[in-house]
Amino acid sequence: MIPLRPNIAAMKGYVPGYQPPDIASWIKLNTNENPYPPSPEVVRAIRAELGEDGAGLRIYPSASSQQLRETAGALYGFDPSWIIMANGSDEVLNNLIRAFAAEGEEIGYVHPSYSYYGTLAEVQGARVRTFGLTTDFRLADFPARYEGKIFFLTTPNAPLGPSFPLDYIDELAGRCAGMLVLDETYAEFAASNALELVKKHENVVVTRTLSKSYSLAGMRIGLAIARPEVIAALDKIRDHYNLDRLAQAACVAALRDQAYLAECCRRIRETRDWFSAELRSLGYDVIPSQGNYVFATPPDRNGQRIYDGLYARKVLVRHFADPLLAHGLRISIGTREEMAQTLAALREIG
Ligand code: PMP
Repeated sequence: MIPLRPNIAAMKGYVPGYQPPDIASWIKLNTNENPYPPSPEVVRAIRAELGEDGAGLRIYPSASSQQLRETAGALYGFDPSWIIMANGSDEVLNNLIRAFAAEGEEIGYVHPSYSYYGTLAEVQGARVRTFGLTTDFRLADFPARYEGKIFFLTTPNAPLGPSFPLDYIDELAGRCAGMLVLDETYAEFAASNALELVKKHENVVVTRTLSKSYSLAGMRIGLAIARPEVIAALDKIRDHYNLDRLAQAACVAALRDQAYLAECCRRIRETRDWFSAELRSLGYDVIPSQGNYVFATPPDRNGQRIYDGLYARKVLVRHFADPLLAHGLRISIGTREEMAQTLAALREIG
């Protein structure tokens, strides 16, 4: 027997969204990727970094990703000392748990939201407590003072779609004895974000990613914004070369092309709102979404049946076995054409 830590042996591990081998022939709406390519500036920057013969890759990347921190800081209105770059926001979520929650200590999050927080906590041997949602989209039974080391709030919520109101998040920051991590993976699609709360509360951290709105899921670039003391702690923990050279070049170019980002998000929001209205006209219950996905429940509340019907037609969406979610589907927003084909498939399935 190999001498595994018992908590690792007991873990099931996180199962990410399914990726069919012949993905190019599918309409892929299961992991909230962006249907549009990244900014042409990103492609140019990657080519320049690579060089004709790839010689650019011989040299280690910047360990601190300093240029990225400066670019992101200027964009969000923070000194670079308030920014850390990560190999996907998943990396920084992991390092937040490693920094704040020791073995046996508690972290909390909303159920349903991103269950990967729980997986990361299990690796650390931290305990996990989840809180449900009320019908008016507040946390159910959240104590006046939450003593867990970290509370993760996904806003906009995934997979459901709504954002939490800023004044409510502000109140929660005061109720958390530990850190309040605002996972703003989908913030660029939403009407508002909570960045200002990082300046107001010393326990608030915001995480962002370039995977969704910037169309760079394949490059793995995320970041966190927090007080310099928090950033300094995270810097001690991360892999020292956590972002490769191509990712660093791509990131700076992507963050600088805000016009491209805005247009891309505008198109996705427009498609989302049109698709939601069309789904409702088919009798689906659709939760108003602030992200690049919708959570939709068919009239017979049989999410699995619709998933199977779509799958047979090579449309891949997300169905969760979780009893809280099994009645519906999370459908990422693709191009207008992809969503029109999805609607045609749904009409056929009936
Ligand atoms: N948080 C949430 C809520 C997500 O949906 C995702 C992506 N599935 C992540 C974090 C991780 O994103 P990244 O690609 O930046 O690691």
